[in-house]
Amino acid sequence: MAALQLGCIADDFTGATDLANNLVRSGMRVVQAIGVPDGPPPTDADAVVVALKSRTIPAAEAVAQSLQALQWLRRAGAAQIYFKYCSTFDSTPAGNIGPVTEALMDALGTDFTIATPAFPDNLRSVFKGHLFVGDVLLQDSGMRDHPLTPMRDSNLVRVLQAQVKRRVGLVGHDVVVRGPGAIAQRIEALRADGVGIAIVDAIANDDLVRLGAAVKGLPLVTAGSGLAIGLPQNFGIAPSPQAARLPAARGLRAVVSGSCSAATNQQVLAFARTGGATLAVDPLRIAQGRDVATEALQWARDHLARGTVLVYSTAEPAAVRQVQGQLGVDAAGAMVEHTLAAIARGLVDLGVRQLVVAGGETSGACVQALGIQQLQIGPQIDPGVPGCFAQAAGAGGLHIALKSGNFGAPDFFTRAFEVLP
Ligand code: ADP
Repeated sequence: MAALQLGCIADDFTGATDLANNLVRSGMRVVQAIGVPDGPPPTDADAVVVALKSRTIPAAEAVAQSLQALQWLRRAGAAQIYFKYCSTFDSTPAGNIGPVTEALMDALGTDFTIATPAFPDNLRSVFKGHLFVGDVLLQDSGMRDHPLTPMRDSNLVRVLQAQVKRRVGLVGHDVVVRGPGAIAQRIEALRADGVGIAIVDAIANDDLVRLGAAVKGLPLVTAGSGLAIGLPQNFGIAPSPQAARLPAARGLRAVVSGSCSAATNQQVLAFARTGGATLAVDPLRIAQGRDVATEALQWARDHLARGTVLVYSTAEPAAVRQVQGQLGVDAAGAMVEHTLAAIARGLVDLGVRQLVVAGGETSGACVQALGIQQLQIGPQIDPGVPGCFAQAAGAGGLHIALKSGNFGAPDFFTRAFEVLP
């Protein structure tokens, strides 16, 4: 059995997929586990990404879950641990980036690690310790008013220092451009100075590649998904289409969409324009106690043999607000998620073996209803969204793509199936 190279802990589900996707593009064979696995590690993966939901839970719980993931990854033989958080450094003075980082450092017995959310491909750059989102500072971006983790200070040294006991320092861009040797030297100097965690500047992919080489010996790295492009080289791994290879796709095709994001609304319209079979799920009918899932599956039974079917609750903002006003935001969300998950399960029972799910929360509900515990990560369909292969309880192998809200081009619901082998 090939040993696991990289063990990753991600603080949310779509963030885990984003990291897995970047690692695959850099040549690693990657399995994403949903929660801490209870079984043995996969035999043919270079990296495992354990997807937690720990970004905004109480810090002590985030620490406990992360340590559990660490324990499993170490038992699996991981040579280096990668703690992955959001590229907008989503956190509060209570955590969870700082407390989780320090707990992992303690458990690994290491006195130094780095932190960089930089992801230039996604327009996230760090310069002089300040995080930019596109052309504006983090504190002037939409993250300023995030409901759970409002980010009102762009100075990451200060932001992280408020969350940790260890001293936080900076590896500036002037050092990073001089290459891995200069970065390693600066790390040693910071270490000697009593710094435990260093924010690292990066404004281009080349910076992340240089940084990747410099952190080869560190037991722990912490970053957004960007650093993934700089690490596989340390394990002698180069980009290769082999990394994204999945078993051949077969079976019927369906799309289940519970996302109401602008991009998804466009994708539903674009799919309808191709003449594909579509069925709208009405939240108010669910609330009336109708068995909407059974109705949808009866409809699907008649259409599946002729091509891809799309079942959606996707609606424009005004319609969503109206439903939420009548049912309540949480109740409407839960009801729709529950129904769409039952429909996804029913579609697979009808023989669907190629499934696209749109919506972050919707994906979580569908994955749970399908009893999926691990995803083998395949080729990228659109930035941040790979095609995957999974074992669904009672159904065997299934190709699945999980698309969060605003991801994907308008033709995503047709092209997803063309990307699969
Ligand atoms: P996204 O990734 O776009 O945010 P999610 O699936 O995470 O998508 O969230 C969408 C939420 O909206 C889910 O809780 C879903 O059940 C709910 N929802 C879907 N369709 C409707 C609708 N027509 N009216 C009200 N709520 C809806």
